[in-house]
Amino acid sequence: MLKNQRLLCLILVGLALACSNTKRGAQESSSELIRLYVFDVGEILIKDVSIFNSGETGAKLLTNSAYLIRHPKGDLIWDTGFPDSLTTIPEGLDSEMATITMSKKLEDQLSEIRLSPSDIEYLAVSHLHPDHVGNSNLFTEAKLLLQQEEYDSLFLGEVVNPDTDQLTASPFIKLNGDHDVFGDGTVVIKRAPGHTNGHQVLFVNLSETGPILLSGDLFITSKQRATRGVPIFNVDKDKTLETMNAIEDFLSEKGATLWIQHDPDQNETIRRSPQFHN
Ligand SMILES: [Zn+2]
Repeated sequence: MLKNQRLLCLILVGLALACSNTKRGAQESSSELIRLYVFDVGEILIKDVSIFNSGETGAKLLTNSAYLIRHPKGDLIWDTGFPDSLTTIPEGLDSEMATITMSKKLEDQLSEIRLSPSDIEYLAVSHLHPDHVGNSNLFTEAKLLLQQEEYDSLFLGEVVNPDTDQLTASPFIKLNGDHDVFGDGTVVIKRAPGHTNGHQVLFVNLSETGPILLSGDLFITSKQRATRGVPIFNVDKDKTLETMNAIEDFLSEKGATLWIQHDPDQNETIRRSPQFHN
């Protein structure tokens, strides 16, 4: 009897181990197949960086990036940079706040990795400011993933942004919170309001690089992150600070690295397409 009990016990332990291994194996394989490509889609010479963070002064050159996440269940483009037409103006465009330039078209960078915009299944942008949506009209076949407030403001302004005016034709999912894009926890849009009402950030669990979070404009520079500076044009200061705290907690909980999309120093350490992170 005792012998039988011991045998049964061994079988049960063996089954439990087999189950946990299978589960872990399935998660690993999904994460292992994800690739993240980073595209350079412009540079922004800010004339006075204190508009983002009162603790910083002077001019600052910021990066502008777009990202492609290739998952076994589909491709997601995150932010689309300045419009490709900016590449035809070598001196860039100058305004009171900044000079913006762009040397490589997003469409060319996609074709370099043998993709065209119509191959992409999902388009998500952190928010609708012009440095993040410039090439969105290329992706009208993709399903648009935006928070409700951001989606609703897309066509409501007095002047519709010509860079997004074709998105009326896009299939869409309006979000009211976090959204697990492929249903396996590897690519998750997180609601992060404050910069705009429907601002969002993107969590990606990469197997070698580890878990990362794409910041949108929740943080603009590393210094601003450290001092919790709030850009003067954010729609809601209190909500911004609340979101910053919640996202910092999330980063700690996941052991994830924040990728600050506009931060020039951090971007120097991040591979550009056609290389990728996995
Ligand atoms: Zn921005």
